Amino acid sequence: MKADNPRQLAKSLTSLNFDNRFVRELPADPDSSNQLRQVHRACYSRVWPTQVAAPQLVAYAAEVAELLNLEPAACESEEFAQIFVGNRLLPGMDPYACCYGGHQFGNWAGQLGDGRAINLGEIINQQGQRWALQLKGAGPTPYARRADGLAVLRSSVREFLCSEAMHHLGVPTTRALSLLLTGELVTRDMFYDGHPKEEPGAVVCRVAPSFTRFGSFQIFTWRNEIEQLRQLVDYTLRTDFPHLAGPSIGVYLQWFEEICRSTATMIVHWMRVGFVHGVMNTDNMSILGLTIDYGPYGWLEDYNPDWTPNTTDAPGGRYRFGNQPQVALWNLAQLANAIYPLIGQTEPLEAALQLYGVCYKQGWQEMMAQKLGLKKFEPATDLALSDELEKVLRLVETDMTIFYRKLVDLVPQDDQDDDSLIAPLLDAYYQPEELTDSHKRQISAWLRTYLKRLAQDGLSSAERRKRMNAVNPKYVLRNYLAQLAIDKAEAGDYSLVNDLLQVMRHPYAEQPENEEFARKRPEWARHRAGCSMLSCSS
Ligand code: AMP
Ligand code: MG
Repeated sequence: MKADNPRQLAKSLTSLNFDNRFVRELPADPDSSNQLRQVHRACYSRVWPTQVAAPQLVAYAAEVAELLNLEPAACESEEFAQIFVGNRLLPGMDPYACCYGGHQFGNWAGQLGDGRAINLGEIINQQGQRWALQLKGAGPTPYARRADGLAVLRSSVREFLCSEAMHHLGVPTTRALSLLLTGELVTRDMFYDGHPKEEPGAVVCRVAPSFTRFGSFQIFTWRNEIEQLRQLVDYTLRTDFPHLAGPSIGVYLQWFEEICRSTATMIVHWMRVGFVHGVMNTDNMSILGLTIDYGPYGWLEDYNPDWTPNTTDAPGGRYRFGNQPQVALWNLAQLANAIYPLIGQTEPLEAALQLYGVCYKQGWQEMMAQKLGLKKFEPATDLALSDELEKVLRLVETDMTIFYRKLVDLVPQDDQDDDSLIAPLLDAYYQPEELTDSHKRQISAWLRTYLKRLAQDGLSSAERRKRMNAVNPKYVLRNYLAQLAIDKAEAGDYSLVNDLLQVMRHPYAEQPENEEFARKRPEWARHRAGCSMLSCSS
């Protein structure tokens, strides 16, 4: 396909094979006006994106385009920009916003819904896969509550880059096809402190097998709309869990167990790579165990399990790094309450919730064994080893990503003093001068125990390196890197967005030319908004 052949471009875009099963098979809101309202007995409301002035492509993810069978030239076309900003609909698109509820920060918030997300429809690609397309920031919907339905460039860069970075890190996630500017300004008071500013508006096109959330089920149970609850559960079974049999109490339970397992897997991945979601409300929990809704998320720099990137969450720290496994369980318990009317027994739901704990523990142990380069996690020795490691990581400010990545460079030698033992890890310390002799003794004591444990294991160092480098990333989307990309993009230069997208494609590879993107947070970013502090304002 050539970029200069508009006919063929049109063909690549217009031959997208839409099959809008969600709207076809689920109850619709009969009202199609775009006005705020409570929507009863319906899964969605039809709504059109708002027209914008001047769409402009900032970046697109070629891998996601490929999932949709779109070639690069099509993505770079004017038509693409018009379509994925929401100005133009393709034949087969049938836009709608979903109704859902949710617990926000532990409190039931009633109806939330897609306030600024508009689904365009689902396509079946050439491999027979179903992909739902969703614009975020394409204007208000009946669920916009008092907000404008828009998104700014800052938060859209963050969502776009992080979705793709997470995917390449091997973390289950929704994907992002494109990031476009709208050509319009949007007013945001970033820290809700009376300092509103105009920011460039943007739209991200998200892509996932489905965007169904825990809150999509909760809303029906809360409203005692049990028939609609059953319809959505049965639909989800058919569409997102086709390997399960037709509906029955037993299958509903199997389904819930599977959600418990996949959620546990997702959280283990977050803990592995140092990702903090920041707003684990039940409306931000995917039924498919995908990371969804990238808002005030952050990446651990210095290893601090009490850290939350979200300023709104700072007082309680509900969504802090170390609490994510507990919150996921709490959220699953809310989902269990939501589907209870279809099951009528509490014991099997409680058993499934127990299963979450079992899966999480097992997954976490396997993950730790991999991060440490052990053949297998042996609780007899490795529980103490990992407990002690946690303490070592918290002694002074220690970069989690660099520490694990460099651990593989330890060289076992006889009679090493503390300094030479620690030397390969020094880069992980934010302020190496903070390391006192006592700290060094503690760190090297752990390193010696660890080296002994490795010796018992008997893996060759080449094999160990291969295993460790496959799970300990060299590159993550550090908070300050995303912010640098935003600063440039706001000044009209999209190069860093695209460079970061490229670097994050291979997070486990050594990329000598991109060493700068593996560096720990510079001092200037320690207290800078967007780097260490984020808000839900987006
Ligand atoms: P979040 O915390 O981003 O998951 O959002 C919570 C709820 O607020 C969801 O129902 C969103 O759709 C809605 N929301 C967030 N920002 C906006 C906005 N600018 N316009 C309309 N709805 C929004
Ligand atoms: Mg949300």
